[in-house]
Amino acid sequence: MNEAFQVVWFKRDLRLTDHEALFQASQWSLPTIFLYIHEPEVFGSVHYSPRHERFIWESVEELKAHFAQKKLAFFSVEMSAIMCFEKLISLGLTCVHSIEEVGLEVTFARDRKLKMVFEKAQVQWKEYPYSGIRRGLSSRRDFNAYWYDYMSNQIPEVSWEAFETPLAITEQISGDMSLMQEKDKVNGIIQQGGISKAWLYLKSFTNERVANYMQHISKPEQSRKSCSRLSPYLAWGNISLREVFQHQYTAGQTSSYKRNMRQFASRLRWREHFMQKFESECEMEFVSVNRGYSELNYDDEWEKYERWKAGKTGFPLVDACMRCLIETGYINFRMRAMLVSFLCHHMNQSWERAANYLSGLFLDFEPGIHFPQIQMQAGITGINTVRIYNPTKQAQDQDPNGYFIKKWCPELEPIEGGLIHEPWNLTQMEQTIMGVNLGVDYPLPFLDLKQTHKEARERLYGVRKSPKIKSESLRILKKHTLKRRNP
Ligand SMILES: Cc1cc2nc3c(=O)[nH]c(=O)nc-3n(C[C@H](O)[C@H](O)[C@H](O)COP(=O)(O)OP(=O)(O)OC[C@H]3O[C@@H](n4cnc5c(N)ncnc54)[C@H](O)[C@@H]3O)c2cc1C
Repeated sequence: MNEAFQVVWFKRDLRLTDHEALFQASQWSLPTIFLYIHEPEVFGSVHYSPRHERFIWESVEELKAHFAQKKLAFFSVEMSAIMCFEKLISLGLTCVHSIEEVGLEVTFARDRKLKMVFEKAQVQWKEYPYSGIRRGLSSRRDFNAYWYDYMSNQIPEVSWEAFETPLAITEQISGDMSLMQEKDKVNGIIQQGGISKAWLYLKSFTNERVANYMQHISKPEQSRKSCSRLSPYLAWGNISLREVFQHQYTAGQTSSYKRNMRQFASRLRWREHFMQKFESECEMEFVSVNRGYSELNYDDEWEKYERWKAGKTGFPLVDACMRCLIETGYINFRMRAMLVSFLCHHMNQSWERAANYLSGLFLDFEPGIHFPQIQMQAGITGINTVRIYNPTKQAQDQDPNGYFIKKWCPELEPIEGGLIHEPWNLTQMEQTIMGVNLGVDYPLPFLDLKQTHKEARERLYGVRKSPKIKSESLRILKKHTLKRRNP
């Protein structure tokens, strides 16, 4: 008979500090195994791609090294969570500590099954809230007060000396379980995972890069440096939101850029506003939050969709953003919104197509932000202003010299000045002089922006009056928003 032991199950919280499951487990006097499970069922989902797996692998490798230094047993295995826990139960598992994941249906379904497995085996599963998010919250009345309170609370420290390793069990796990394999490096210039990288980005942001935060936030090139770039670290939990919040608060006291720091802090709150929305209505992964919009008719043209996906629409900023995203896993908020607006409004394609493709490209894919944001930008919530971005105007405002466009669409390099934003206006003579051949080197656009803008407006504002959309809007306002709401 093996000795009883507990597991700390790492999910999207791949760090060592401000880690509720670790902290709580340290209060129990039971031998402990630390575990990350890389689940083929989850990573087979359309929303995940090799870039996520590589980031996680890097994060897990760093964790492993920390645990090795502490002489504690950290395992990263690659198998179904059900099979993994069934094996651990057979070895004497009595308790599991983890966060409540704000996840996709595939992880909720797994958790439902696991609950039954644990109940049958009389294993306790202690789940702790993810950051300031509350399960089962029915109204937002006290959201801000609760959130600020949580963010300001002292972070509990884990007492590492309380942990001991069940040696006999670790030997059996090493022998019997399939360990996580190294994930291939992905092509491109993608941020690397891990706690040390997360803190590096945070400190360099609050020390220096914050200086131009608000001036550059919507500019596709400059935002790469002037925004924090913390999103993948927050998404995979290399750092907690509370750690970021408290660090920026302290740094903000002496910063010369207090206004920028406040703007940054408000985005940290938005993050959890969206995540709470998804936690309270996770059906958003599959249906429009405002059910009244389910009946919209979309153009399901594949060929144009493929051109959007490949960055070959003929609209320079749209194409540059898509190509940059494919190569680097990141673009800023405004450009994400523009890509979705272009697909859903100008091309009249469904929000699901945007959601399914972009999730695999965003290194920071976070279901709790992704689905509400996609639906908001697609104009189907019924409670937000519908923004139909004109990509030419965005390019003129946010990339006036075409630096970003030329970087990602080198075919357009020879075009001088403002002409880069509307290459389709170049005459044959001008193309010859400049050395570009539109329709051959770079595609000509497949739609007329003025016309598609008008059609999208009519379509979206037309249906907004439908009784179902109106009643759904009232329901959403009541359930998901504050009286004085911002995002
Ligand atoms: C269609 C669409 C899909 C998106 N999908 C994701 C996603 O899957 N994962 C994700 O992390 N962000 C998503 N965002 C929000 C936003 O674009 C990114 O969080 C931001 O660009 C990340 O860059 P940063 O870390 O430099 O942000 P900063 O401006 O430095 O902000 C700091 C942090 O605040 C949070 N944040 C910032 N802006 C927002 C916002 N508008 N809504 C919610 N949280 C915000 C993020 O966690 C971010 O890391 C999406 C936005 C849109 C329009």
